[in-house]
Amino acid sequence: MRPHEGLDAVLWMQSSAEYVASAEQAYHQARIQLDRALAPGNEDWTAAVEQTAPGYEKLPPAVVLDLDEVVLDTTHFQAGNVKAQRSFNPDAWKRWVEEHQAPAVPGALAFTEYIRKKGIRLFYVTNRREDERAATLQNLRELGLPADADGGNLLMRSQEPDWKSDKSSRRQRIAETHRIALLVGDDLNDFVSGGRGTPEERLAVVEKHRSYWGTRWILLPNVVYGGWERAIYDFDSSLSRDEILRRKFEALEGPE
Ligand SMILES: [Mg+2]
Repeated sequence: MRPHEGLDAVLWMQSSAEYVASAEQAYHQARIQLDRALAPGNEDWTAAVEQTAPGYEKLPPAVVLDLDEVVLDTTHFQAGNVKAQRSFNPDAWKRWVEEHQAPAVPGALAFTEYIRKKGIRLFYVTNRREDERAATLQNLRELGLPADADGGNLLMRSQEPDWKSDKSSRRQRIAETHRIALLVGDDLNDFVSGGRGTPEERLAVVEKHRSYWGTRWILLPNVVYGGWERAIYDFDSSLSRDEILRRKFEALEGPE
């Protein structure tokens, strides 16, 4: 049997106590930081670098969460790829989304309940596509996660012409009406533009915003997929699986 490159990563997410602890830790920190963001005297606190328009201090606060591997656990789909010896396949993904069977990420349900009790607005900014909206909403509702009746708090990719995979324009939209108190994500792109650079460029983005991590930006672990992985092969999804593997081996640091 040829080992699949995702085997250990998916197993870590699905079976390790450490993954659950990491997710719980992230959401515990999110609560502490949300309380800080809402404390008197912190009205100028914002998590969005896009939030620059004067007067935002008076806007009602909101929390922005990504969906996959932040609120929804898609590792059953990822495990299917490992078992079938295949890479990501958009048709298989769409079929899986339409089953609306993703479980919740540990800690996500309790955190959204905490937000709801405080009367804070919650937005999901996801790179799931607009044509995956109905199944995604159904999935959220069946888990008891807060979703507006009209789906107004779910901002999908391609929902509007300028809502590309870069989420900056969607953060900008939310920032027009709300003070963004926290961003919760698993990918650099969930926090700031610049996630599509080389690994070195992505690291520079992280370092430029060093003070945001764990304060305004809460990161959940995702070792299976994401910008970190695609950056290794220049986000070139046309490459063969063997070529991608070759580039990954080349990217390893250490003795020959
Ligand atoms: Mg995600």
